Amino acid sequence: MVDIAAQSKESRQAKSVTVIGAGIIGVLIALQLQREGHRVTLIDKDQPGSGCSFGNAGILARSSFAPLSSPSSIKQVPSWLLNPNGPLSICWGYLYKILPWLTRYLMAGFRSDYQQRGEALQQLTDNSVQLYESLCTFADCRELIEKIDYLQVYRSEKGLLKCEADMQWRRALGYSVDRLDAQALQRLEPALAESFKYAHLIRDHGFVKDPKALLSAFYDKFCALGGEFVQAKVKTIEYHQQQCLVFNDKETLYSDKLVVAAGAFSARVISSTGIHIPLETERGYHVNCAQIDAELQVSRPIMDGDLKYFVTPMNHGLRFAGLVEFGGLDAPLNMDRAKTLEKNAQQMLPGLNTQDASYWMGFRPTLADSMPVISHAPDNPNVLYAFGHQHLGLTCAPMTANIVSDLISGRTPAIDISRFDVQRLL
Ligand SMILES: Cc1cc2nc3c(=O)[nH]c(=O)nc-3n(C[C@H](O)[C@H](O)[C@H](O)COP(=O)(O)OP(=O)(O)OC[C@H]3O[C@@H](n4cnc5c(N)ncnc54)[C@H](O)[C@@H]3O)c2cc1C
Repeated sequence: MVDIAAQSKESRQAKSVTVIGAGIIGVLIALQLQREGHRVTLIDKDQPGSGCSFGNAGILARSSFAPLSSPSSIKQVPSWLLNPNGPLSICWGYLYKILPWLTRYLMAGFRSDYQQRGEALQQLTDNSVQLYESLCTFADCRELIEKIDYLQVYRSEKGLLKCEADMQWRRALGYSVDRLDAQALQRLEPALAESFKYAHLIRDHGFVKDPKALLSAFYDKFCALGGEFVQAKVKTIEYHQQQCLVFNDKETLYSDKLVVAAGAFSARVISSTGIHIPLETERGYHVNCAQIDAELQVSRPIMDGDLKYFVTPMNHGLRFAGLVEFGGLDAPLNMDRAKTLEKNAQQMLPGLNTQDASYWMGFRPTLADSMPVISHAPDNPNVLYAFGHQHLGLTCAPMTANIVSDLISGRTPAIDISRFDVQRLL
C-alpha cells in the first residue's frame, strides 16, 4: 500500500538538484529551487547568460500567446521567403534535414487545437510582468524592467488588417489594444519613418532594459543563497538507482533530481538517454546601436508588423532584434542576415548611425506545435524537462520556474500543464 503521508513528507524534503543550462529558464529554475531550500548545482558549457537569453529583444510579451504557425502566417511564407529584406530565410543546405519538422510546423497552423494551444501558452505569458517585478525586487534589480505599452507598426492598412485577427483574440482575452492613425503614431514616436502610417498600441506590457544584466542579477542571487555553478559541457546523462548522473568534460555530478533546460541544445543533451525529441532552432539576430542621437530615441518597444523585427530602447542603446533563419545549431552567424536587419533598422529610423553597431545571433528553441516542454521525462520521474520556449522564453521563464519547482517539491502546479507534456512528441 502507498503511504501518502510519508510520500508527501518525502517530497517536501530538501533535494540535491542539477540544472543543465544557465539561460533565463535554467537560472530562474535554479534560483527558485535554491530559494525553497534545495541544494542546486547549475551547469553550463559557457558563462551564465551566454546563449539565446543574452541577446533577445527584452519584451515581456504577455499577450503574444498565438502559436507561431497560423493560417494567416502560412499564407505569407512565400512572400517572406522571396523578399531579401523579409523576416524568414532558410539555409538551403539544411532544408533536407529540417523538412519533416518544417512540414509539421506549418501544418500545426491548421490543427483544430490551435486556439487551445494559444490559451495554454497564455497561462505562461500573462503574469510575466508581475512575476518579474517580484523577482527583481527579490534580486535587487527592479531598475532593469519597465512597465509600458508596446507598439506594432505598419506601412499600409493591408498590413494592419493582416494582424487584426491576432489583436481581436488578444482583446477577447481582456488585453487592451488600440488602433492608431499616422498622426497619433508620429505624436507618440516622432523618430519613426513617416512610411509607417498605422499601428496597434498594445497596453500594459513591459520590457527588460538589459536581458544579460537581468540574468546576471538572478544568477548572483542564486550564488548568494548558496547555489553552486559548474562551467562544463554535459556529455551524457545516466540513471543509477535513485540517482541522476551527469557526465561532463570534467567530472560526474550526482543528484536526486535533474532538470534539463539547455534551450535549443536540450535534445542533444537528452539523446544520450535514448530519447529523441524533434526540437529545432529558429535562429534570430540582433543589431545593437550604442550611439543614438536624442532625436532618434524611441520611448517604448516597437515591432515592425510587416517585417517582424523589434526595436527596444535598452540601457546600452537601441537594440533591433528579430528574423527567423532555419539553419540548425552548427552554422555560424550569417552576416548577410545581420546586414538585412541593419538595413531594415535604418529604414525604420532614418538617419540611424550604425557605425559602432554590434551583431549577434541566437538559437531560439522551437517545437513544431509552438509549445514548450515542461514535464517529467518519459523514462524517469526524477528528471524534468524545461525547454522549447521559442520566441517567448524571457516572458515565460518565471512561470516555467514556478512549475518546475512545484513538480520537484511535490506540489500541484497552479495551472494545467498537460499541453506541455513531452509525451505529445514521442
Ligand atoms: C532575436 C531574438 C529576440 C527574442 N526576443 C524575445 C523577447 O523579446 N521576449 C521573449 O520572451 N523572448 C524572446 N526571445 C526568445 C528567448 O530569448 C528564448 O526563448 C530564451 O532565451 C530561451 O532561453 P533558454 O534558457 O531556454 O535557452 P538559452 O538562453 O539558450 O540557454 C541554454 C543554455 O544551455 C547551455 N548548454 C547547451 N548545451 C549544453 C551542454 N551540453 N552542457 C552544458 N550547457 C549547455 C548553453 O550554453 C546555454 O547557456 C528572442 C530570441 C531571439 C533569438
